[in-house]
Amino acid sequence: MVGGGPVNDVGMSAEELSAALLALEVDRTGDPEAAHAAAVGYEKRALALGDEHLLMRARLWQVAMRVRTGDVAGVDGQLGEIMDSATRCGDRLLQARTHILFATIRWISGDAAKFLEHSLSGVELLDDTAPAVLRISHRVTLADALAFTGDMDSARLRYRQAESLAREANEWNRLVLLLNNWSYAEYKIGDFVRAGQVAHRMVDLAATHDIELVPGLLHTIGDIQAANGEYAEAERTLQTCLARHEAGEVDEINDLPYYLLSLAQVQRALGATDRAQDSLDACRVLCTQSDQQGLLLRVHEEQAELHAARGDFAAAYAAQKTFRTASEGLRSPSREAQVLARHVEFETAEARTAAERFREEARRDPLTGLHNRRYVDEVLPALIAADPGLTVAITDIDHFKKINDELSHDTGDQVLVQVAKLLENGLAVAAPDGFVARLGGEEFLLVLPATPVAEAAARVDGIRQAISEHDWQGSTRGRSVTVSMGVAGAGETSPPSPAGAMSTADRNLYVAKRQGRNRVVAGLPPEPRPRACDVD
Ligand code: GH3
Ligand code: MG
Ligand code: MG
Repeated sequence: MVGGGPVNDVGMSAEELSAALLALEVDRTGDPEAAHAAAVGYEKRALALGDEHLLMRARLWQVAMRVRTGDVAGVDGQLGEIMDSATRCGDRLLQARTHILFATIRWISGDAAKFLEHSLSGVELLDDTAPAVLRISHRVTLADALAFTGDMDSARLRYRQAESLAREANEWNRLVLLLNNWSYAEYKIGDFVRAGQVAHRMVDLAATHDIELVPGLLHTIGDIQAANGEYAEAERTLQTCLARHEAGEVDEINDLPYYLLSLAQVQRALGATDRAQDSLDACRVLCTQSDQQGLLLRVHEEQAELHAARGDFAAAYAAQKTFRTASEGLRSPSREAQVLARHVEFETAEARTAAERFREEARRDPLTGLHNRRYVDEVLPALIAADPGLTVAITDIDHFKKINDELSHDTGDQVLVQVAKLLENGLAVAAPDGFVARLGGEEFLLVLPATPVAEAAARVDGIRQAISEHDWQGSTRGRSVTVSMGVAGAGETSPPSPAGAMSTADRNLYVAKRQGRNRVVAGLPPEPRPRACDVD
């Protein structure tokens, strides 16, 4: 039984307690408060039985219910303890479930990178023996995280996998929820046609299996109808959503203001500006009461649109200004870069399909295994936009042609591989958040996030020295190999740009070559130059 309030658990055996917990764990429709109370009772029983595993499951469920009601204060510490215990006992199921809760909390706080990382662990730790509902819902969380980080192709793959699992297990309620998340993800990336198709499948499936759509799902459908220009249908859907919410079908506590905002937008699109203003006012009151700053921002934005729709452009301008001022305070520039970086780790951690592997390989240099120029071109703009304090160092092997000519091309290849390794090892210490790429030939790029130029120059000089002091006996019969480096900060040009940083770094590299090689140069004033390799 779920949501039964105080539970008659005093005489339960460990087996009975485990079964009672499982009943809680697989039910998503129960009232969170009652389920929390039940889990508190089970925690006491687990303590009396001295069973750590059951104790942790009871605690995890309490946290899960708190998270569902939006109460996430202090849950990190509790989840950490549960994770420690699960890891100690080798309980992969509990570890997986704890990861998924961590993922949810990170999602709530907007930390997309951690959202993805935890949801990935939540899937990887489950095998075929895990309950189907968990295998489905964890996969949906991973798909949500992939969509959230902008990789919609991978997200669709996970949604489809989860859908097959749900169909095999006849888990129709889960499948409706899955289709809700999927259609919402399509909607968020702006693919409204696909969003509409998935939402239709959700509505049909719910009708076939006699599943009532809760307010949150109706909200998704209403938003998607509006995005497709079906405003009258959207208003009806959102009115039903509000009516069901008022009838007590609360699934996520803080969602009412979101329903109202969507409704206001649809009503404005219909030209019903009075109805729209009423909906928006109601939304604003709720946002202010619950201090939802992010949403309040969207209220300001919508108010500007509404004033403009009425032809009151002075008021529209004022509302627009309020929106801009408020949004400045809420921006978090480094997040995107973090997501991007984490996503690269994901690529290697996840067992990949052939297509995914191909996509990854297109961004790697086959000889050294380093990222290649294409990768740099793809990620550097976003990294610099998020982190103007980023510094780059272009690294070029000195007199590499002679190594090729006087030893052999194979030896040259070995030197490239060895230099790549030394650069990577060095950067792992000098800038663990950074990366090394092979730009082409014997030229490499070191990226040091959030590192002032002088500091970066000092750090990469350590790497340069390590290369020159490396024992080259094995690969070049003792002939020493050195590199020259040109360093530049993204913030040195205005506005910060990858092209600006690369060209300044290249100019500094040229100076390093001219001054005798085997050195690092930074901060010299730009000067017109021939290519570094043309000099001798
Ligand atoms: P400097 O000190 O001025 O940089 O002189 P350098 O000889 O290193 O510069 P240059 O650009 O003249 O020579 C680079 C050479 O790198 C030329 C090219 O044949 C060689 N090269 C480029 N890619 C590869 C590769 O993948 N493997 C090998 N073995 N050699 C390569
Ligand atoms: Mg060279
Ligand atoms: Mg060169």
